[in-house]
Amino acid sequence: MRSTAKRVLVTGGAGFVGSHLCERLLAQGHEVLCVDNFFTGARANVAHLLGDPRFELMRHDVTFPLYVEVDEIYNLACPASPVHYQFDPVQTTKTSVVGAINMLGLAKRVKAKILQASTSEVYGDPDVHPQPESYWGRVNPIGFRSCYDEGKRCAETLFFDYRRQHDLGVKVVRIFNTYGPRMHPNDGRVVSNLIVQALKGEPITLYGEGTQTRSFCYVDDLVDGLIRMMETPHAVTGPVNLGNPGEFTIAELAALVRELTGSASPIEHRPLPPDDPRQRRPDIALAGELLGWAPAIPLREGLARTIAYFERALQAA
Ligand code: NAD
Ligand code: UDP
Ligand code: UDP
Repeated sequence: MRSTAKRVLVTGGAGFVGSHLCERLLAQGHEVLCVDNFFTGARANVAHLLGDPRFELMRHDVTFPLYVEVDEIYNLACPASPVHYQFDPVQTTKTSVVGAINMLGLAKRVKAKILQASTSEVYGDPDVHPQPESYWGRVNPIGFRSCYDEGKRCAETLFFDYRRQHDLGVKVVRIFNTYGPRMHPNDGRVVSNLIVQALKGEPITLYGEGTQTRSFCYVDDLVDGLIRMMETPHAVTGPVNLGNPGEFTIAELAALVRELTGSASPIEHRPLPPDDPRQRRPDIALAGELLGWAPAIPLREGLARTIAYFERALQAA
């Protein structure tokens, strides 16, 4: 294992997905440099890794240049929850676009492979269902979600131009809604919101009628897909969808959360946010073909694990 050990940079490594990725890479024997500006991430997410001499945590904003020596880069830095990415939308676009330029410049200088955490949001409010990678999307360029959607789309453009201009080893994955332990309790995303509300006996907030759909992937499955993608040969660039094709309405999700928590929380309807996609489900045939990957953890089981985490987190708070 040691002879194949690499120096791996994870930007956004103190966030929800990033912290799980850092943990997995260390377990595989690699050295991990975790870079984060702690906008939505926290030192606490990686506190259990700080004692490992192969782990290093650096406070840094990826919109500024970064000079380090690494073999691989996972570029995850970017707030992912609509509440957070809309808080400072200009910074969100900068993080995706300028952050991508800096990390691509770094990858070019040190000849590192670089993986971009793109998103199902590049498909916008899709009129093709489920979404294959060949679908170009239906995105509002000037709305409240655009800072995230268009920032991520531009980052994809940069990745493919660095590939064409500099033959960089790029990997682009489009991540669909992912959930699990270490989501922030005030993260604003639906899984954490609903679980926290159910556990606290507060009203469960359903935006709109709750008929919009999402497909939820457990974080361990996603991390497995990210690592498999990084390990593909130079010819493989993606984009590749990573997500769980099990599709649920938000009302179904709420019912499942109530059942698994045994909560009597009432359902409360709130206005649907603008541009909220009506449906979303990944076509993961390409991930199966290229990576031999498919998610293993069904929603019911992943939710049970996530609920157990939030029970502990809320007791400790
Ligand atoms: P998160 O908000 O928990 O993590 C993002 C991390 O990036 C945080 O630690 C944050 O502090 C850090 N960050 C933000 N701006 C930064 C900057 N300018 N410089 C350095 N660090 C910065 O979100 P997450 O769910 O862990 O998402 C990780 C990545 O995966 C993001 O790029 C997100 O767009 C992508 N993604 C996630 C999902 C999902 O459902 N979780 C879906 C699609 C895409
Ligand atoms: N960059 C970085 N670390 C490096 C090399 C480059 O952060 O090790 C940044 C730097 O800010 C640069 C950007 O990446 O502006 C793009 O680099 P590239 O070499 O592609 O372009 P140029 O330097 O010509 O702008
Ligand atoms: N949502 C909801 N209640 C909440 C939070 C979100 O009904 O408390 C809805 C939201 O309108 C969207 C879906 O759940 O239709 C998923 O929202 P999330 O913010 O998790 O992710 P995204 O919209 O980016 O997929």
